[in-house]
Amino acid sequence: MNCCIVGGGPAGVMLGYLLASAGVEVTVLEKHTDFFRDFRGDTVHPSTLEILYELGIIDEFLKVPHSKVRRLTGQIGETTVTLADFSHLPTHCKFLLFMPQWDFLNFLARQGRAFPSFQMEMGAEASGLLFDGDRVTGVRVKTPAGERDIRADLVVGADGRSSIIREAGGLQSIDFGSPMDALWMRLSKQPGDPEQLFGRIDYGRILVMLDRGDYWQCAFVIPKGDFDEIQRRGLDILRADIVKMNPFLANRVAELRDWSDVKLLTVQVDRLREWCRGGLLCIGDAAHAMSPIGGVGINLAIQDAVAAANILIPEFRRGGAISIDALRRVQKRRELPTRITQRVQLLIQNFVIRRVLSSEGRMAAPFPVRLLGAIPLLQRVPARLVGLGYRPEHVKSG
Ligand SMILES: Cc1cc2nc3c(=O)[nH]c(=O)nc-3n(C[C@H](O)[C@H](O)[C@H](O)COP(=O)(O)OP(=O)(O)OC[C@H]3O[C@@H](n4cnc5c(N)ncnc54)[C@H](O)[C@@H]3O)c2cc1C
Repeated sequence: MNCCIVGGGPAGVMLGYLLASAGVEVTVLEKHTDFFRDFRGDTVHPSTLEILYELGIIDEFLKVPHSKVRRLTGQIGETTVTLADFSHLPTHCKFLLFMPQWDFLNFLARQGRAFPSFQMEMGAEASGLLFDGDRVTGVRVKTPAGERDIRADLVVGADGRSSIIREAGGLQSIDFGSPMDALWMRLSKQPGDPEQLFGRIDYGRILVMLDRGDYWQCAFVIPKGDFDEIQRRGLDILRADIVKMNPFLANRVAELRDWSDVKLLTVQVDRLREWCRGGLLCIGDAAHAMSPIGGVGINLAIQDAVAAANILIPEFRRGGAISIDALRRVQKRRELPTRITQRVQLLIQNFVIRRVLSSEGRMAAPFPVRLLGAIPLLQRVPARLVGLGYRPEHVKSG
């Protein structure tokens, strides 16, 4: 029995690792030749860390360079508030961990390769599905050595939000829209910069800065579709907008030399009606593209992988075709947590982000946010929602 997973992101690599650790023959196909791409979220949540603990690889993982955040702070106008306090979570790691995602994926892939039945093919791009009647029986793949077919008892689409696998499988999605996009850029870190700077909301703008050691990875949130207009106004105006948000960046915004230093990330929120059909299952962003709000997308992708492994490993062991019923059980298990998370993200997008992006002047923290900042006990609630989410998964042993 074998499984072909399309996509070497958090969902695909984690599922590959888990199936291979149970002796299932797995091939993970990744179209890029490495994991080293700028756009990769950097947050590893306590629930993901708990899974690494359950797998017995947390100590190795914590040797990879990272930073820990026990309290998440944000600055709205002049007010700096603690938004979430992770230090009371019922998990072994009571913090949010920041690590460039390529390091996280390299770590997981390295752990996976320790199992003889794990195979990860880099530079291998799935171009379509193979069928026998209605049932998916494999993947057509393009590699530098040419095209070939891979036959599999189960194909998993973990190829992210522009999934070609879900399209080739004829799976329909519901698009929820988004009022924002993000401009992604890097600025150097310099001595004397604030520690653990995260989000700043002011002047109708949102700037998120992720600490990547010697530089800041910055996301400047803009109204959806505004990038052409921003480019027309010129790079100097964008640089000035960034400095207005964080004046300490004034001595380095010139590092944005031209528009090739600014990448547009289109935010998309959607969900498949059916995550599977005979021989095919979609997980992670391929089943439900997440908004960047809360930085929970990686986490949900990992949770999907764990739930899928828990349900599918006994099926693989039983032998014979993987039943559609088992694939539907994966969707049933993960659909509610996804729906709840997307619902909250959509509420924040539509009632907070949209409002922020349509205003102009200085901003003040609204009463509920000030209340959250003032009462430490309340800060445990968002920590639980973001850090653990609804229905956290656990690795079933054996
Ligand atoms: C602006 C923005 C910022 C974000 N920031 C965060 C954050 O800080 N923290 C967080 O948790 N989430 C964040 N997210 C969400 C997060 O990036 C995703 O939810 C998460 O990466 C999904 O994981 P995945 O494995 O399902 O898909 P992906 O991470 O998208 O991985 C899919 C993989 O499949 C590969 N692939 C695609 N097509 C093919 C093909 N045909 N053949 C072979 N391989 C293929 C891709 O190269 C990719 O490596 C952010 C999202 C946005 C839009």
